[in-house]
Amino acid sequence: MFGSKKKESKPTIYTEETCNACGEVARRPFEEGDYVFKQGLQCKKCSSSTMVTAVYGEYPPEKT
Ligand SMILES: [Zn+2]
Repeated sequence: MFGSKKKESKPTIYTEETCNACGEVARRPFEEGDYVFKQGLQCKKCSSSTMVTAVYGEYPPEKT
């Protein structure tokens, strides 16, 4: 066991895109230039246009 545990793991940034037509939410790794309300990629489900609705960081699950 290590005496001191470092907590410096960087969060992974994700971009969430919501389809304007069917509401399908797709999450993908954040790419530079992404921002909320930006036009996203095509919806995988119905091929309509999507919009970035959230950008957030998530810490990876801690290994125990
Ligand atoms: Zn859709």
